[in-house]
Order: sequence, then C-alpha cells, then structure tokens
Amino acid sequence: MQIVRKFLPLSLAFMAACSTQSQLNPNLRRPNNLQAQSTQRAIPKPPTKIIVSPNQNDRPADAKISAIVLHHTATSGTADAVGRFFQNPKAKVSSHYIVDRTGYLIEPVSEEARSWHAGRSSFQGQGNVNDFSIGIEICNVGDSLEPYPDAQYDSIIKLVAYLMDKYNIPVSGITRHRDIGLPAGRKIDTSNNFSMERVFEGVAALRAGTYQSPPAKPPVSVNLPEFIEVTAPSGQSFEDLADIYLDVPARAEELAALNPTIASRGLRAGDTVRIPLTYAYYGIK
Ligand SMILES: [Zn+2]
Repeated sequence: MQIVRKFLPLSLAFMAACSTQSQLNPNLRRPNNLQAQSTQRAIPKPPTKIIVSPNQNDRPADAKISAIVLHHTATSGTADAVGRFFQNPKAKVSSHYIVDRTGYLIEPVSEEARSWHAGRSSFQGQGNVNDFSIGIEICNVGDSLEPYPDAQYDSIIKLVAYLMDKYNIPVSGITRHRDIGLPAGRKIDTSNNFSMERVFEGVAALRAGTYQSPPAKPPVSVNLPEFIEVTAPSGQSFEDLADIYLDVPARAEELAALNPTIASRGLRAGDTVRIPLTYAYYGIK
C-alpha cells in the first residue's frame, strides 16, 4: 500500500530520519548472546503512572508470561492521550505500558492481567498472543519518518530489560506486532525506522553495567500533519484500514468522518483515503 504524503511541512528531523530509513532492516534480527536474566542483579522496574483501562480480562489459568510485543500508537497524541483512549470501554484496546516520546511511562493494565493489544495473532506456533504476552505501545505516528527520540528508547530499553529479567523471557520472546498479526501483513507496527537492534544493545549494556542514559535534551519539535493519505487496495474496508494504520479497527468511524464522500458510496480500490494522526476525533485530547 502506498502512502502519499501531502500537507506535510517536513522538518529537518524528519528528513534525517528518512535518509537513514533504508539502512534499517525491517526484518527482526536478534542477538544470540543476550541472556534472559541479568547475571549481576535484578533490573529495577522503571517508574510508571498507573491508570486503569477497562479493556482487560484474566489471563488463562495456565498462561505463563513469555513474550513482549512492541507496538507503535499510530498517533501524534501523547501517552496521556493514548491512556485516556484506552480508558474508553468503546475502544476495546489497551496495553500494559505506553511509552511517551519524552520517555514517560503509563501503565494502563497490570502485568498479571490480559491486556488487549495483539488481536488476531500467533507467535512461535501459539495463537492468542494476548494470553501470554506483555504489550508495550510506543508513541509514534508510525509513518517510518517520525524519529523515535533518545529518551523514548531509554525508557523502552529499561522496561524491556526489567520484563525480560522478571519473567525470564529469552531474547527470542521479544517481538513486534507486525511479526505476529494474523493474517500475516495485517499490521505494520513497529515502523521500519524503529531499531530493535538499539533496544537489544541497550539491554545488553544495562546487564553489563555499561549502559548510559542519553543526556536529557529538550523535546524535538516536529511538524506533524493532521492526516496522511493512502491508496486503498482492493477488498479493503474502512475497518481494515483502521486496523492497519491506526492499530484499532473501531477507529473506522473516524475514517468515515474524515472521508465522507467515500463513506457515502462505499470504499473502492484506488480511492485516496485520509487517515487521521490524532485521537482528537474522539473528543479526547
Ligand atoms: Zn500494534
């Protein structure tokens, strides 16, 4: 599916991210020398703000937490905005953690509970990945252009290292939504410019006691468009596009509101569809 970018005053940061994009391999490669648990000392849990999402239930009684799934939020909204969205029962989605662009962490569902982040999915031959995984949502529009700030990587590294250590999760248990969504190709998160290698390297350094958090920097200001435009392939519905681009099928209503002409006559292959990059359409800011 081709993404046509319009209405977008590209910042220098965007262009820098774009130029390095081709150097990052979208295929997930894992180091083979990273142990599940720290041999030094337990990795502490990073500080989080706890909120409660109703979009959760009990894990199956025999479920053992054995995987970590990384997502991007597909929105320009902050972690607080995404958290408020997850508190809406109509959203029917959640995650255990949300990582803001500033590195700030929100915890909408406790690790013991089953959060609703992966949908139809399979990982290492096991279906219903929500049953046995921890879901982490990373704030990013997901267009493979918006950079992931250093402070955000820093929090992701600390969170993943803590979870691997606590649950004895091997490096083979770290995955992305795009690698487990069913049918294959349904999901695109995390975006191509998110570096799993950087996460693995950071976890290894944290274990070795050589990790250094990046220096605090003021947040990078980026000009984000209100929407992107995509060309609809054949056989897709607004719900399919909302699932792919916004990570939430229920956001199809936003697509209809933003594309009234197409909505009134039905989506056709080749249509140019506007995809919103904000939760503002829910009245949640
Ligand atoms: Zn996802």
